[in-house]
Amino acid sequence: MSTYARQPVAFARGQGVWLWDEAGKKYLDALAGIAVNTLGHNHPRLVRALSEQITRIIHSSNLFRVPMQEAAADRIAEITGLDEVFFCNSGLEANECALKVARKYGHDRGVAEPAIIVMENAFHGRSLATLSATGNRKVQAGFEPLVQGFVRVPLNDLEAVRQVATHNRNVVAVFIEPIQGEGGINVARLDYLRGLKEICDRHEWLFMSDEVQCGLGRTGKWFVYQHAGFQPDVVPLAKGLGSGVPVGACVTGGRAKGVFKPGNHGSTFGGNPLAMTAVVTTIDTMREEGLLANAMKVGEAIRDGLTAALAGVPGVNEVRGRGLMLGVELNRPCGALVASALEAGLVINVTAENVIRMLPALVMSEVEGREVVERLVPLVREFLAQPAMPARAAAAH
Ligand code: PLP
Repeated sequence: MSTYARQPVAFARGQGVWLWDEAGKKYLDALAGIAVNTLGHNHPRLVRALSEQITRIIHSSNLFRVPMQEAAADRIAEITGLDEVFFCNSGLEANECALKVARKYGHDRGVAEPAIIVMENAFHGRSLATLSATGNRKVQAGFEPLVQGFVRVPLNDLEAVRQVATHNRNVVAVFIEPIQGEGGINVARLDYLRGLKEICDRHEWLFMSDEVQCGLGRTGKWFVYQHAGFQPDVVPLAKGLGSGVPVGACVTGGRAKGVFKPGNHGSTFGGNPLAMTAVVTTIDTMREEGLLANAMKVGEAIRDGLTAALAGVPGVNEVRGRGLMLGVELNRPCGALVASALEAGLVINVTAENVIRMLPALVMSEVEGREVVERLVPLVREFLAQPAMPARAAAAH
């Protein structure tokens, strides 16, 4: 189906943070498959582990014990500090599971029509439930009727949440991306997250942190909630969890522990030995190679470099983000920059129409980080030097 407006480039191979297209042209990859290739391309340890696993067994079934799934769950419990893991195959599935946990939690407490607080500009996926939770009309349009039971508030506005708490007795959970990715690298303030957690505790709501894009070491800690210093109840994961092998996970603890019983949820492919090998190898390699500290260091180098080089450039609104989750907001739609970056041998993304987004692999070196800045800055300057396109032409772009 023609669901994507694709760039006319096909990548044939990759090494670390470098990609080569079919014609042999080399690119610096500052996107990593939209926050997926945690260990970069062709990491020898991941390639070896997956190759060996394929020769043993690729898939059995969740009707039987899957030892590699148990190993992956143990690793995830360690890094999240939570207790239970359900494995699936994508971010929307992890979120779908989280939404079901919240509803079941509500029903178990006698709430017949449980409601979940969600945020404006959030993105949670494209299934019916997750697009209904998503705070973007473009994602929802044409797919009504939406799934009911979501109450939307602006990000970073605690008073709005307090208002809902006073008027809506059906609320059972808050569902938040602590750094909105698709929405434009919008960072929830840490004091806001702590305040939100306090409200959740007061009302015995679940705190559900969608870390599908921002989690897994990208911000310099395993998870964004760890910067705020508390434990949520539900954490959906996917994207970087398997370094490129499709895998998702919904992790529960606190008030959400034990909510699901046998028969409440399932997945044929979820937790298969191949994907679980990718999870175990990704987490072990991240630990051994110190990739959290690296993400922090290289992220700061890129951010500082961009901030300095773009300071005072008319049309640059803000450079923001944390670790290797970075955005440059311009004062106009800038989707055209993706093609000019490819031309210049750089892979980036533009989201929310006017935010250049970078989500490189966590193995990126400081030298490579500086190279991202050196390649991007002239493109941004050149783009902003052109007269701004009229709004309608830009939207069609
Ligand atoms: N949640 C967040 C925060 C995401 O960024 C995404 C994808 O961009 C999803 C959920 C959906 O993940 P998937 O595309 O794997 O279904």
